[in-house]
Amino acid sequence: MSKLSVRIRNKAEQFYEWILPREVELSDFLVQVLALVYNGMHVEWKSVKFHFGLPWFMHYATNEASTQPGTYDGHSIHVYYRKSMWSPYSIRGLSTIVHECFHVMQYRQVLDGWGVGYFRFFLILYFSGYASLGRSRKHLIELPAYSEEDKFRECLEKALAEIGITDPEESFYDRQDEVLAHFKGKCPDISPHAYKIKFWKLMYALTPGAFKFHSYYFGRILLFPWMIIWNLIALAATILFAILKPILESILLIGYLIMLTAAGACALVGL
Ligand SMILES: [Zn+2]
Repeated sequence: MSKLSVRIRNKAEQFYEWILPREVELSDFLVQVLALVYNGMHVEWKSVKFHFGLPWFMHYATNEASTQPGTYDGHSIHVYYRKSMWSPYSIRGLSTIVHECFHVMQYRQVLDGWGVGYFRFFLILYFSGYASLGRSRKHLIELPAYSEEDKFRECLEKALAEIGITDPEESFYDRQDEVLAHFKGKCPDISPHAYKIKFWKLMYALTPGAFKFHSYYFGRILLFPWMIIWNLIALAATILFAILKPILESILLIGYLIMLTAAGACALVGL
C-alpha cells in the first residue's frame, strides 16, 4: 500500500486531467494526411491543439470528439477526443479526426477564428443551429463535415483494401508509411476546395422555421425579426458560456490546489 500523500497526489493529478485533458502532439503522419485532405484550405495544422480526453463539462455527453475554441485566448482551436475512442491509426479514428478538422476549418473561415475565449462568431452559429436542429447530420454546419468525412473514409478504405487492411478498427501504426503512400496515390484530390462559409446565409438557415419560408418572399420578410431575436439569444448564450466556463474552471482548479496542499501536508507529517 502506497503512502497517503502519494495516493492523494495521484488522485489530484487525475482530477487535473479530468478538468484539462492533456495535449497530444500531432504526429507527422496526421499532419501529412490533414495537409492532403485540406489541401489549399489555409489551415495551419501545427497550431491546432489536440487533447486526449473530452473537457470536464462534456464527460457525460455522448460525443466521440469535439472541436472548441481556446478558453483563455482569442485564436487557438482545440480538438478534444474521447480517451476510450482515440485511435489515430485506424480508419474509424482517422475519419473522425478529418470530421473534427472540418470544424477547425469552419472556425477559421469566420473572421479567421478570432474572438475572446469562447466568444467566437462561428460558435454563435453553432449554438444557433444546435438549439434549433440538435446534433443532426442535416444541420448545415454538420452536413458538409459529414460529407467530407464520408468521402475521406470511402477513399481511404479503397486505398487500404489494396494492402489488406479492411477492418476500420485495425491499428496500422507499424505500416503508416505504406498507408500514407497508398492514400496519396489513391486520393490526391479530396480537398473541399469550394467550401466557404456564408455567414448570413447560414444564420438564416439555422433559424427554426426558416425551411418553411424557403421560397416565399413575404415569408422571408416575416421571418426576419424572428431570425434577429433567435440569433441575439444565441449571441447571449455564447457570451454567457464564455464568461461562465473560466469561472467554473477556476473553482475546479482551486479544488485541485486544495488536494495538492493536502498531499503536501500528509508528506510533511510522514503519512
Ligand atoms: Zn461535427
